[in-house]
Amino acid sequence: MRIAVASGKGGTGKTTIATSLALSLAGFEIPPIFLDGDVEAPNAHLFLSPAFEQLQEVAIQIPQVDESKCTYCGKCAEACQYHAIVMMGKKTLVFPQLCHGCVSCALVCPEHAICETPQVIGVLERGSARSNISFARGVLNIGEPMAVPVIRQLKQWVQPRLDQLEILDAPPGTSCPVVESMRGADFILLVTEPTPFGLHDLRLAVQVAHELKIPVGVVINRDGIGDQQVDEFCQSEGLPILMRVPFERAIAQGVAKGKPLVDIHPEYVELFQQLFMQIAALP
Ligand code: SF4
Ligand code: SF4
Repeated sequence: MRIAVASGKGGTGKTTIATSLALSLAGFEIPPIFLDGDVEAPNAHLFLSPAFEQLQEVAIQIPQVDESKCTYCGKCAEACQYHAIVMMGKKTLVFPQLCHGCVSCALVCPEHAICETPQVIGVLERGSARSNISFARGVLNIGEPMAVPVIRQLKQWVQPRLDQLEILDAPPGTSCPVVESMRGADFILLVTEPTPFGLHDLRLAVQVAHELKIPVGVVINRDGIGDQQVDEFCQSEGLPILMRVPFERAIAQGVAKGKPLVDIHPEYVELFQQLFMQIAALP
């Protein structure tokens, strides 16, 4: 089973919730695997202290056009939905920064004029973290725009044991990397805060989850700082609120120092276990 922990925006405490969920379930017969899918700014390691033992580069295939074979038919440019290969008169230009490495252009080229060269865009790392949690993360190279292939390869790289729970900390927002993080999950835990901004972004994240047809539950973090609109929205949409974490100075200070929520307030271990049981009990 894979649970994706996501939020419509950054700064809601998504990683705080995801890491403490993992720590709370670490005492189970098979400890969970934790995946840090926030590949542009991974920070779950600050809470789980993994020792990395394995590393693998992530590369995408960038097309290269053999001008001696090219007849300038334009079929490659037509096939590229990302406009990463274009025709400029008698020239076929490739823009690597826009390329998703899907190789469609090479497949449609009637002259076999396109070959691919690998371009490293990031790295995958894995090892053991606190409490026997298996930990893996993707790290996108600075300046690289393509987070999706790193997240996709991270999901494929880990080999969960039968019945082993995967907890995936998704990037914030609702763009392509978030969709890729959610894709294939059995449940999406959306972390939000009870403010108008939180509600706005929660709506968008719920929409994405609905489009992917994945069940959703909500954690309200910093409960007490705002209004009731998030509660009302969840009620009207039939979204279960699975946990509330109050707005509290001790939590904010502890988290800022890299302390997991369950270290600050050990009573949350049981609450996270109950949260997981509710998810596991869903049909
Ligand atoms: S499809 Fe092949 S032959 Fe046609 S323009 Fe592109 S590279 Fe050249
Ligand atoms: S590999 Fe895919 S994204 Fe890249 S230029 Fe070719 S068609 Fe476009």
